[in-house]
Amino acid sequence: MEEELFMVQANPWTRTKQLLQSVAAETHLDPLLLATLLEHDKIIEVSLPLEKDDGSIEVYKGYRIQHNNIKGPYKGGLRYHPHVSIDEVKALSFWMTMKNAVVDVPFGGGKGGIAVAPKKLSEAELEKLTRLFVRKLVHDIGPRVDVPAPDVNTNPKIMSWIVDEYSKLVGKYVPAVVTGKPIDTGGSQGRTEATGLGGMFTLLAILQKLGVNPKGLTVAVQGFGNVGSYIARFLQEQGCTIVALCDSRGGIYIPGGIDSIDQIEACKREKGYLAGCYCVGSVCDIVNKKPLRGIDITPEEILELPVDVLVPAALEDVITAKKAKKIKAHFVLEMANGPTTAEADEILDKKKNIIIPDILANSGGVAVSYFEWYQNIHKKQFTKEEVFQKLRGKMEKAADTVFRCSKEKGITLRKAAYTVALERLAKAWVKH
Ligand code: GLU
Repeated sequence: MEEELFMVQANPWTRTKQLLQSVAAETHLDPLLLATLLEHDKIIEVSLPLEKDDGSIEVYKGYRIQHNNIKGPYKGGLRYHPHVSIDEVKALSFWMTMKNAVVDVPFGGGKGGIAVAPKKLSEAELEKLTRLFVRKLVHDIGPRVDVPAPDVNTNPKIMSWIVDEYSKLVGKYVPAVVTGKPIDTGGSQGRTEATGLGGMFTLLAILQKLGVNPKGLTVAVQGFGNVGSYIARFLQEQGCTIVALCDSRGGIYIPGGIDSIDQIEACKREKGYLAGCYCVGSVCDIVNKKPLRGIDITPEEILELPVDVLVPAALEDVITAKKAKKIKAHFVLEMANGPTTAEADEILDKKKNIIIPDILANSGGVAVSYFEWYQNIHKKQFTKEEVFQKLRGKMEKAADTVFRCSKEKGITLRKAAYTVALERLAKAWVKH
């Protein structure tokens, strides 16, 4: 069951290209610009031979794909996951170009990663591997060239290793080479919460336009990393009832509502996984499942629960055509990149479900990455309140523009987001 979550269902780049082509045709995009966007500016593949703590040698593959820099330096995360591949990174880097255009930050799109299971490495091995990756990428990244950030299984600590290695290589301290750094290494207040918080602002903005009160809406969140854990917290603060949470190994469904996300997080930290984290008061234990009327759940099953809002916040392609038919949630808030296949998208649209697309919903992370980069470049420091206020402004504006476009043209929010992005790219593009 669990495997399907991580199985590649379709080539995300192929399906994305099809959507790009159809929106380009509808918006009469210049064919030269379309031809440019259908390809990637630069594809970098490197080998990373690592000597492990026990003396054995393992060779990993690392990728950085620079899709497009029409609107500014390439920008996007680095993910560490066994399924990282060229096609996955191609799609992810393209989505960054579109996302950055939708949320209107002066960046192009890039993405990268290493095909590795980071949990199987020691911290020393992970650091060695990261530094080796930086040595291979040194000529291709930089504050005005390409600015990586965290993504799946990467975090502020890994970003600090990148700053350190890059700075050593170029002979000066360059914090703006990545974003998502720890605060004491030049990171921004609020970056950690940004993707989740941005998702909340987006959902609230769309609900308001539709005249739906968020209070009391039931929510299921698939994925409990940086994005999933924060969106659950923020939606709970808005009065939503979080009924189900899971990570890649499984999770919990408490129809009456999960009490404290903090406790679930503490339980997961202690055990290493979320399944069985039924918490009452300060005690979290599988024994408490009964009084809470909790039910164990797989990452697959969570998608089919009878909730108002489904939040995929893990990996791409989890909502397949088969799944889409079984989805009961009226709203799907795509906090993962590319969680819905093209066929599933059509099915959900026919069922009149409202999908708030990834390139809008999860753009809060890169929006605050922009604030971080700006603070580094201009030697400024914003308070957390300032960052959250700016983020709110960006997300509400993006949601409003996309929603209006969807109403005016009678198209889905996803097609509207693509339309807005393509219009902005066309404006910034200089034809040669
Ligand atoms: N990895 C995040 C994303 O997919 C953030 C990228 C960034 O901040 O550059 O949007």
